[in-house]
Amino acid sequence: MRDPRPSVRAMRPYVPPTGNRDGALRLDFNENTTSVSDAVIEAIRGAVTGETLAMYPDYSQALPVIARGLGVTSDHVVLTNGTDEAIQLLVNTFLESGDRLVILEPSYAMYRFYAEVAGVEVVPVAYRLDDDLAFPLDELLAVIDTGVDAVFVANPNNPTGGALPIDAVRRILERAPDAVVLIDEAYVEFSGMTAIELIDEYPNLVVSRTFSKAYGLAGLRCGCLVAAPDALQWVRRAQSPYSVNALAAVAAAAAIAKPDYVNQYVTEVLAARQFTSDRLRALGYRVFPSDANFLLFVAGERREPLWAALRSEGVLVRDRSHEIDGCLRVTIGTQKQMELFISIVEEHT
Ligand code: PMP
Repeated sequence: MRDPRPSVRAMRPYVPPTGNRDGALRLDFNENTTSVSDAVIEAIRGAVTGETLAMYPDYSQALPVIARGLGVTSDHVVLTNGTDEAIQLLVNTFLESGDRLVILEPSYAMYRFYAEVAGVEVVPVAYRLDDDLAFPLDELLAVIDTGVDAVFVANPNNPTGGALPIDAVRRILERAPDAVVLIDEAYVEFSGMTAIELIDEYPNLVVSRTFSKAYGLAGLRCGCLVAAPDALQWVRRAQSPYSVNALAAVAAAAAIAKPDYVNQYVTEVLAARQFTSDRLRALGYRVFPSDANFLLFVAGERREPLWAALRSEGVLVRDRSHEIDGCLRVTIGTQKQMELFISIVEEHT
């Protein structure tokens, strides 16, 4: 057997801790903690016929609906198998081995992952604890000035939680006119700040969206890239023709066509986030500002026993201490779910 690419051999294995989550309160992956709407379930049921399943997917119905939901036309959208495929596509389309990609650290692990697979050099810019994990804009701009081929930014960022104002996004775009700038808006429903309005102004801007978070469709894997048609023509050329399955496309279109359900969920999560952060602070924890559906907080010495106590009561949260010392990340769900979380934290603090 042939050896793998040297870039693959050099990678550390990534093992997502996704086992044994059935029946638990899932405050560990920033998913929708409830469910999708009945309308989405019905749309999926309606699409499950022998014939639809026997055919390769046809996106001609779903694509314009999704584009309209995003406030753009179909030529500005490429559907993807989750944001993960969107990231991979940008790397495959625009970057070569040895090119330089700037990312923030910590941020979403898949930027580094796909860059490393492709042998792209990753240049990290660190969030600073002493700055309350605020976006390190000046540091990022300084690195851009050293010459980079791509900049991938999550807005809001995971796991830190903060969002970047659109003015700052403009500054990045203007400073890196020859690079590909990805603004990953996986949590935009919770922050309300989007760069989509800039796509016709900046040819170097690509925005990604996902149906995995607020929309509650993580299991189906659907996301998209939104950008000027000129950039997307190359992305389309580099994409597998059927990477989004037929049911995912139907579900995503049904979900975005009726935004009331998601809007209501977001309103509930935002109130529950305030409640959770107030209570954690009252218990003496340092909680970082969040514009997303999760909170990062410093549990310090209590990190491990607290994680285990929550686990034993069926509540899953994520240990992020490998990225920021002593930190746990909790996904925000409904008020009732967060009351349960807080009651366990209270008992073990
Ligand atoms: N981007 C960010 C910033 C994320 O936190 C996540 C999920 N953890 C994703 C993208 C993944 O999205 P998808 O399920 O669409 O691949």
